[in-house]
Amino acid sequence: MAPYEEYIEMIKSLWTTHRLTNMGEYHNRLEKELQSYLEVPKVSLTVNGHMALELSLQAFNFSPGSEVITTPFSFISTTHAIIRNHLKPVFCDIKETDYTIDENKIEDLVTERTVAIVPVHIFGNICNVEKIEKIACKYNLKVIYDAAHAFGETYKGIGVGNFGNASIFSFHATKVFNTIEGGAVCAPDAAMYEKLYNLKNFGIRGEELIVSIGTNAKMNEFSAAMGLCNLRYFKQEVEKRKQISEKYIEILAEQKGILVKNFLNPEVNYNYGYFPILIDEEEFGRTRDDVYDLLKQNNIFSRKYFYPLIVDQACFKNMFRDLSLPVARSISKHILALPLYGTLTESHLQRICHTLKK
Ligand SMILES: *Cc1c(COP(=O)(O)O)cnc(C)c1O
Repeated sequence: MAPYEEYIEMIKSLWTTHRLTNMGEYHNRLEKELQSYLEVPKVSLTVNGHMALELSLQAFNFSPGSEVITTPFSFISTTHAIIRNHLKPVFCDIKETDYTIDENKIEDLVTERTVAIVPVHIFGNICNVEKIEKIACKYNLKVIYDAAHAFGETYKGIGVGNFGNASIFSFHATKVFNTIEGGAVCAPDAAMYEKLYNLKNFGIRGEELIVSIGTNAKMNEFSAAMGLCNLRYFKQEVEKRKQISEKYIEILAEQKGILVKNFLNPEVNYNYGYFPILIDEEEFGRTRDDVYDLLKQNNIFSRKYFYPLIVDQACFKNMFRDLSLPVARSISKHILALPLYGTLTESHLQRICHTLKK
């Protein structure tokens, strides 16, 4: 996070201009800065990552009831965005290697009703974008990437916001780059940008002109100012997280029963947002849930990312319970995300690893 003084200095002028929101100076500046930072044609800022995804889907005007192929191994937002657009999520299993959607299982799920694929670059692991694009071309599908975990990453030197027909980022407080709450859509062209502009601002195009039906999903000036400040420290934050991650790997790699397979793709410039490990209960002698509880008793707060699977959540009753998703179910049961943030000290890291081993 940027220093307090820097942020305070930045928001001072808002008390003079009284321009607190509605595409103010900071909003517009952040859009421009992100466009060049992420090397994407267009960035549309939103109030949060979820609305970025919901509006991206809405922008394509899919007919209600159409099917969207997606992953069950993600934050609930991914599926909610599909359903809230009156579309039907069709869940595809994931890969054991990097937990992203299994591109070899997508085609089997395509029907005449399929209109889009919503893959997730989970934990900053980049999906097989080449194969997904091929499938999308073959069946004339749109691809909207949930890139909430992949801010600032590149794949083969290309900014990840460039893949698919749109990509969304989340700038929630818990993400590597934050605007307190916030998000963005990377749009391939001005037409998509304009659609999103209308969707996020009630379709208002003039004091007496509403051109389309829309919601309110704008980013305010305080969030945009936070973004402008935090962007200056993003590289630094990633570098610190990289060092911490490497230390984790060094200490945990030799531990029996703990499987670490993070940051393995040499084509990806990672942002080191998450540090998931897999616990093999047979070899480790404890289940993932045991480990979670024991860490918690020692004031170490890990996360069961992502458990339960989206398809098993209470809100869906038993709608998706019988789906065959063996890999996603197994990963979900064995995965645990360890604490990872730039200010995590060496001694805290040692204590986490020591407690784990004990
Ligand atoms: C954080 C997140 C979102 C939603 O972003 P918000 O800014 O919290 O609305 C969507 N998808 C994934 C994978 C996320 O981690």
